[in-house]
Amino acid sequence: MHVYVMPLKRFLACHVCEGNLFLQREIKMNTTGMSFLDLDWANKSADGAICRRCGYVHTFMGNGLQWLSPEQVKPEDLPADPLAGQQ
Ligand SMILES: [Zn+2]
Repeated sequence: MHVYVMPLKRFLACHVCEGNLFLQREIKMNTTGMSFLDLDWANKSADGAICRRCGYVHTFMGNGLQWLSPEQVKPEDLPADPLAGQQ
């Protein structure tokens, strides 16, 4: 999947390898410490974007992401991938 970052109005590129394909995984943020400190807003789940090439996990709170399949995305709209074709 590709990840559109709505506040930036552009697609996510991996912070490590600059790949632009990710797997989506829900990441639980629950901790007893957060509840004890009355920070329950931080107990929600985060959206994890796992880079399909290098495995780096980008973690996002809130609803700023839009997940799109490759068929929904024009290749020219994606950030340049310096390693494209080498995986
Ligand atoms: Zn990566």
